[in-house]
Amino acid sequence: MSDFQLFIDGQFCEAASGETFSTLDPSTGEPIGTAAKAGAEDAARAIDAARAAFDDGRWSQRRGSDRAKVLAAVAKGLKDRAVELAALETRDAGSTVAKAKGVDVGNTILWFKTMAELAAQIDQPETLPLSVFPTPSANVLRHEPVGVVGAIVPWNFPLQMAAWKISAALAAGCTIVLKSAPETPCTATKLAEILAEAGVPDGVVNIISGSGPGTGEELVTNPGVDKVSFTGSTDVGRQIMAAASPTLKKVTLELGGKNAQVVLDDADLELAIDGAAYGAFFHSGQQCTAGSRLLLPDALHDEFVERLLERLSVIRVGPAADKASTMGPLVSQQQLDTVLGYIELGQKEGATLRAGGQRLTEGGLDAGYFVAPTVFTDVTPDMTIAQEEIFGPVLSVLRYDDEDDAVRIANGTPYGLAAGVWGSPARALRVAERLQAGTVWVNEYNLLNPRYPFGGFKQSGLGREHGWAGLLEYTETKHLHLAADASRASKRWFDMTVPRR
Ligand code: NAD
Repeated sequence: MSDFQLFIDGQFCEAASGETFSTLDPSTGEPIGTAAKAGAEDAARAIDAARAAFDDGRWSQRRGSDRAKVLAAVAKGLKDRAVELAALETRDAGSTVAKAKGVDVGNTILWFKTMAELAAQIDQPETLPLSVFPTPSANVLRHEPVGVVGAIVPWNFPLQMAAWKISAALAAGCTIVLKSAPETPCTATKLAEILAEAGVPDGVVNIISGSGPGTGEELVTNPGVDKVSFTGSTDVGRQIMAAASPTLKKVTLELGGKNAQVVLDDADLELAIDGAAYGAFFHSGQQCTAGSRLLLPDALHDEFVERLLERLSVIRVGPAADKASTMGPLVSQQQLDTVLGYIELGQKEGATLRAGGQRLTEGGLDAGYFVAPTVFTDVTPDMTIAQEEIFGPVLSVLRYDDEDDAVRIANGTPYGLAAGVWGSPARALRVAERLQAGTVWVNEYNLLNPRYPFGGFKQSGLGREHGWAGLLEYTETKHLHLAADASRASKRWFDMTVPRR
């Protein structure tokens, strides 16, 4: 029996094929356990279960306030098992102890609590102003669940990403099939246990692990799915959008980023230096919002870089489970190869390597996938390391002349997920307003809130997650038009059936 089974129609089970795969601890390269490897057949069975659960109304027809109670019970179940979940995320995803506790598990609890609060309000109809056109009427909007959701998540924040999608789908009244990333299947399975214990009815949430092509594809193409909620790379996002189009599914895409941190010449330098390092190296840069491009004014450039390089000495790269580590490993050998490939390319294209640039193996790190915090200067906007998402601890420093130049460089990639501006508030806000990004932090970086919308401009995505905007992505808006005068005499149906008086 595998250690991390599929969860379909309220039952834990193996894949129909009996296939399993090993999931590894990226700090040590050692196996954590085996996970059931779902194929298209398992995905289809999970979709059928979610379809039946949606259509018979066992969840969708419940009042939002009832659903809220179950979501609050999930939050409590997560809190009760927080230590176990954090330890598992540390082993499976290479989350440092602090990240696993505060972000992976802490935010997951917060997201379920917040979605419980929003679920309690979702049934309240939205009354529009009285209208006299085309005839006097009262008008009301209702937000009804969109149906069955196919959700696909990446490996960088496995529990949190699953929580973002499941909590919103449940709050809206949808049913869902979620596929975890093949690198990190563990905590989603534990979440399934917590959901069942909290009273989520059978079939409402189904969780499978398996590869993208095949298993994930089934979620995107099966006619039983009404909406696809995908978080992952822009390349796969494109494929998902195309594959979902024959059945015209609603699609939300949370994709990659090449996020700029713009430092203005009136910035608090101590704050901006810490912020730049945190933005670039948190979770080894394996975050869609990583501030992987640092834009410095000519006048500040040299001093800022020197002080930033000194600040790197406080970053402790080491095994994720060691409390002293502030930066853990990359998730896999494949990700390690990708990141080292970009570092080589940066040097070939003429950027100057000022820090890091190599795999770390000393001190018992040789079996894990560790890369030193890496800083390139003399990066020009057209270089690959200034244009493509690396998803590793690699910071590209670019110079700018004036505010217009900074805005032009910051907006000069196909991405538009997030950005940061460091400077005096009024000036920083002026620059922030000109940046093409779904979230811009001013004198802050990388903070998400379950009540504020998050998502990408340009090729960083479609739609939003979190808050009302995110919740409404899991609904269909129904307009109810109530005629103020229901008499035949009042109707003016273009003289077709009612003779002109
Ligand atoms: P990925 O796109 O390779 O995979 C993401 C998920 O999609 C995985 O579960 C994978 O199995 C699945 N998949 C792959 N091919 C598929 C296909 N053809 N059909 C259906 N499913 C398929 O991304 P990754 O390497 O796991 O994660 C890193 C990426 O995720 C980065 O680009 C990062 O920016 C992005 N990301 C975005 C956000 C956001 O909110 N915008 C958050 C986290 C990560």
